[in-house]
Amino acid sequence: MIAENTKRLMDSIREAAVKCGRNAEEIKLVAVSKTFGIDVIREAFDAGLRDFGENKAQELRDKASSIGYPVNWHYIGGLQSNKVKYVVGVASLIHSVDSMKLAQEIAARAERTGVVQPVLLEYKTSGEDTKGGIESKEELYQIAEFCRDYKSLLLRGLMTMAPFVDDEAVIRKSFSALRQIREEMINAGFAMAELSMGMTGDYEIAIEEGATILRIGTAIFGSR
Ligand SMILES: *Cc1c(COP(=O)(O)O)cnc(C)c1O
Repeated sequence: MIAENTKRLMDSIREAAVKCGRNAEEIKLVAVSKTFGIDVIREAFDAGLRDFGENKAQELRDKASSIGYPVNWHYIGGLQSNKVKYVVGVASLIHSVDSMKLAQEIAARAERTGVVQPVLLEYKTSGEDTKGGIESKEELYQIAEFCRDYKSLLLRGLMTMAPFVDDEAVIRKSFSALRQIREEMINAGFAMAELSMGMTGDYEIAIEEGATILRIGTAIFGSR
């Protein structure tokens, strides 16, 4: 089932990319494997997937230490201070840096363990109370500057979650806002290639709006 789902999804991603004149090669698929076990992740690996996303620190640590396959882990969830140690140096990319405090803690941990940790800043484009993310541009720039100045962090781009609504225009607005902010930040001198946006329900819109990383679980693994 996972192999079929993956093939169908890859075809669909390619089609959506071609339709808006983009090269599908520049769009990375992160298979969100949260709540699924090691065997399921191995099955997805055998289907050709190499990037996996987790949203709980201990779950990431446990899976990373027991998988035995060369996968790239992505951390996409909220992260508490006392759990930073489970993620830094394990995740190839942390998508969910949403406060200065967290950026500082990741930087300190990375420095202490001698790694450079790639990160994205999670920006709140939806206005919904329930989601994490940096809420003001001022704070976004402050954290970005911190990342730029701190050698143990590598700022790679921005992440967002669109609101959970049916209105396509609302979702599109959220993604295009993130793209615009990336442009502004590039013009301000930040090197930020990545836009992590798009899930099972909205990845086609995200592709149209410039996503470089999709985080997709349900379309690959089924419902959780
Ligand atoms: C669970 C999750 C996803 C994937 O959601 P699906 O709808 O299953 O594709 C993407 N991003 C984040 C931050 C998540 O927590």
